[in-house]
Amino acid sequence: MGRRAWGDCMGAAEAFGGDFYHRRGDKKQASRTSVTDMAERSYLDWNATAPLRPQARQALQDASAVEGNPSSVHAEGRAARRLVERAREDVAALVGAQPGNVFFTSGGTETNMLALTPAIETAGEKRPRDRLLLSAIEHSSVRAGGRFPRGAIEDIPVSPQGRVDLAALADAAGKASRPLVSLMLANNETGVVQPVAEAAAVAHAAGGLLHVDAVQAAGRIPCDIGALGADLLTLSAHKIGGPKGVGALVRRSEDIHFPDPLIRGGGQERGTRAGTENVAGIAAFGAAAAAAHCQFAAEAARMLALRNLLESGLQAISPRAVIFGFGAAAARLPNTTLFAVEGMKAETAVIAFDLEGVAVSSGAACSSGKVQPSHVLAAMAVLPGLLRGAVRVSLGWTTTEADVERFLGAWRKLSSALSKGERGMAA
Ligand code: PLP
Repeated sequence: MGRRAWGDCMGAAEAFGGDFYHRRGDKKQASRTSVTDMAERSYLDWNATAPLRPQARQALQDASAVEGNPSSVHAEGRAARRLVERAREDVAALVGAQPGNVFFTSGGTETNMLALTPAIETAGEKRPRDRLLLSAIEHSSVRAGGRFPRGAIEDIPVSPQGRVDLAALADAAGKASRPLVSLMLANNETGVVQPVAEAAAVAHAAGGLLHVDAVQAAGRIPCDIGALGADLLTLSAHKIGGPKGVGALVRRSEDIHFPDPLIRGGGQERGTRAGTENVAGIAAFGAAAAAAHCQFAAEAARMLALRNLLESGLQAISPRAVIFGFGAAAARLPNTTLFAVEGMKAETAVIAFDLEGVAVSSGAACSSGKVQPSHVLAAMAVLPGLLRGAVRVSLGWTTTEADVERFLGAWRKLSSALSKGERGMAA
């Protein structure tokens, strides 16, 4: 099995591109998927998870038929190994890395846990790092601090627009020696894109390293590890149309080592992550990465046009609606809108949208269920009246204008209930 040629990309795009977007009523598609394809529902919660791409579904199915263990030397084992290595190439290509610098894991959370350790060695530096600098808006899997002791972790504030304060980062990095800095490329709640290249310069000037959680950014905005200046990058398959429970740690160069892996045992993933590889999941991750890579420009442009339509409609219906990170002060992902209206209760709004056939979420999916204000909005010093009312709408490659219209229809009803002060809607 050879390397996936980018020419294949065109085939995939033609097979699943424009036509795929508009075939929701098609029996073949409907039998394949889930609520997403139900004509009466609109799935607008892509930052929580994306539907499996058809290419990934096919790869998952095909790879499930391969019996071998990738560590075995016989033909069956070698077939499984080829699937893993081909996926490694496709994931590496998505972020401009060398395949040998990709390590497969069980997802974004495990990858963040693996990456955030004092024991990262580089060619010139073997001593443990004693400081971890985190932006205050990181995902909870980064905020947990990996294997750093609590006392070694420092929060870096963000602006009201949700961008990390680079001056505060430079100040903290200057006081630390060889810190590990962790800054996400795009925030999962607001979609605000962070100044990662500038943060890399700050981290490196202090003799440190930069880890970038690119889970929400990959496939939506350019994400080249070299251009970003990142030393380590976290990816998660299910945000780009691969299966849940698969991810990768990508390193800038082979000079970076993890002498203290999170999961020890066999020598899989070159000793960095023991355990028999999830061959089918990894193969599907590779297929999703390849599709995301070649369809990226078209998908991003389509999502941006739809998001602009959604935001202008949202504000036309309710001029009081505040869209976080809106405006020129902060670049955002092309697919994400986080908004609130003074006094609206997010949990109630999410249920009301659901009843209207629209799936959205309140803040981060991982923390929904907990009725707690978002740490991201708290870090942005959002006023208490808006803090409990933030609803996140996130789009993806199968979203259509009809989905946006359904969302706006539901919003029209909800905002009218809100302005009439109907029970349950207000915070
Ligand atoms: N990082 C970010 C920014 C995320 O949004 C998420 C999931 O929502 C994760 C990490 C965790 O990834 P996973 O769900 O693969 O564990």
